[in-house]
Amino acid sequence: MGRNYAAHAREMGDDPNVVPPFFFMKPADSIVADDGDFPYPGHTKEVEHEIEMVVALKSGGVNIPESKALDCVFGYAVGLDMTRRDLQDLAKELRRPWEAGKSFDHSAPCGPLYPVSVVGHPSRGRLWVAVNGKIKQQADLADLIWPVPRMIAELSSYFALAPGDVIFTGTPDGVAVVKRGDRIRGGVEGIGEIDINVV
Ligand code: MN
Repeated sequence: MGRNYAAHAREMGDDPNVVPPFFFMKPADSIVADDGDFPYPGHTKEVEHEIEMVVALKSGGVNIPESKALDCVFGYAVGLDMTRRDLQDLAKELRRPWEAGKSFDHSAPCGPLYPVSVVGHPSRGRLWVAVNGKIKQQADLADLIWPVPRMIAELSSYFALAPGDVIFTGTPDGVAVVKRGDRIRGGVEGIGEIDINVV
């Protein structure tokens, strides 16, 4: 999901009261497991981290009502929506698609999935990321413009959802560049953490 925290929508130049959250896709093989390496990609001078809560589905469907949406959730994780911001900005300027900026190899580091039986359905709790020990982004899940039931309902009105689908739920403000050698650590209170090296 894009623009699901008001302060990040504003830092990207949108008015969150006018522009609702929206969706884009990454390929399944862009996942990097926790404790893994994120190879600094080519064609960019501006790779940024976006810390996000991740929702994994155990069932799906179309037009899922908000009241039934949480029944589809297998569990939760902490992920990074890595972004070639310069290529995304160019795509916006030229009105081209976002794949080169968002959907490249290794662009979706994702920590371990914790089942609902262990972590419940967190709707508040601190979300944070630090680069080389320095906090870069922090917010609270309570600040999500569309909480999890709403995002599943909205998504399922555009796309059929299926078991195994993974939703990165959007990032708060404070996105910043990384470079080779950086260590990115992040977490969501009540869920877990992720630890990734930029190589
Ligand atoms: Mn994102």
